[in-house]
Amino acid sequence: MKAGPKDLVKVIQNVIGKDPAQLHEPSFIGNEKEYLNKCIESTFVSSIGFYVEELEIELAKYTGSKYAILVCNGTSALHLSLRLLGIKENHEVVIPAITFIATANSVLYTGATPHFVDIETESLGIDPIKLRNWLLKIGVKNKKNELVNRKTGKKISAIIPVHVFGHPCKIKEIMKIGEEFNLPIVEDASESLGSFIERRHTGTFGKLGVISFNGNKIITSGGGGAILTDNEELAKRAKHLSTTAKRFHKWEFIHDEVGYNYRMPNLNAALALAQLENIEKFVSKKRKLYLRYKKAFETFENIRVLEEKKGCRSNYWLQTIFLDNVDFKYRDKFLSEAHNNNIFIRPVWNILSNLKPFINYPKSTLTNAIKVEKSTLNIPSSSFL
Ligand SMILES: *Cc1c(COP(=O)(O)O)cnc(C)c1O
Repeated sequence: MKAGPKDLVKVIQNVIGKDPAQLHEPSFIGNEKEYLNKCIESTFVSSIGFYVEELEIELAKYTGSKYAILVCNGTSALHLSLRLLGIKENHEVVIPAITFIATANSVLYTGATPHFVDIETESLGIDPIKLRNWLLKIGVKNKKNELVNRKTGKKISAIIPVHVFGHPCKIKEIMKIGEEFNLPIVEDASESLGSFIERRHTGTFGKLGVISFNGNKIITSGGGGAILTDNEELAKRAKHLSTTAKRFHKWEFIHDEVGYNYRMPNLNAALALAQLENIEKFVSKKRKLYLRYKKAFETFENIRVLEEKKGCRSNYWLQTIFLDNVDFKYRDKFLSEAHNNNIFIRPVWNILSNLKPFINYPKSTLTNAIKVEKSTLNIPSSSFL
């Protein structure tokens, strides 16, 4: 049987039994209020304090990363990561064509040029085969064994794979390509806290990994982010650069380079610490929600629910469905029918290289991205549903 827009609404209503339904709302079921009160009582509500230290320790423990450095959001974590790798003007960075705009913005903040490469349809991450072909096509090794763009002569400096909607991308294949071409990987794990590949947490494969604690993510600090790394030097530099590059001194203001005010306030860390204590509960509820959706959609031949790849544990942050063989007009009928019924569903992001700020940057053929853009929807995903 084929599902039409009304069927989609019915299925969602049957599964979640709630109307209206947002796409994603946070749940505060633990120590949030207690920690926030303690934080206020301590007067240390800003960038220094117990909860910042504690959350850095707990996040490192949970992800298995040696170091976790908290910052004020995921975007600044991406920007700082690229800065830590020395990326600037005259550099080029490869990213997937479909991701949240922050991935691309962070490249532009450094002055570097983004390249957009196609995604694969199993996980919606950057396609390793297309990535390798793209690097072979545009790149050539110089005498220092660095990869440079044969047209522009600029250095290709990093790859940023993204674990989309919490689903681990093909990071192992991508790591191999990074080694082959001598390129560091910054893993955008903004959406994948709680997602593992054979028990290794996403964001810990690359030289640097990025987490977001924005309000719509699986756990939140209000707004916030983190950098994960096993490299002590990078971790120290991340802390330093995020703290206006200020050297420690009891009273002098000595800043040894241009840094940023990117630290996460203690108040936000207090909220996120309480949230992190419940992350396994949230993941388990989201995994159950996925099973309920999967069962409910089984009768329809034209709708498929995105599921985790073998060997992975996805956090199922946003539930994702694919419509078969559709165009934008048909897709939009599903969107408007749902919105008319106060059910918030959303299409995947637009292909970034079609957006005004990025239209003139290089891109591979985007066969899969074009298909995915027209057919992919996120449906209500809060962990309490
Ligand atoms: C949320 C998100 C970010 C940025 O995080 P903020 O905390 O909102 O700045 C970056 N990349 C992806 C893929 C995201 O989903």
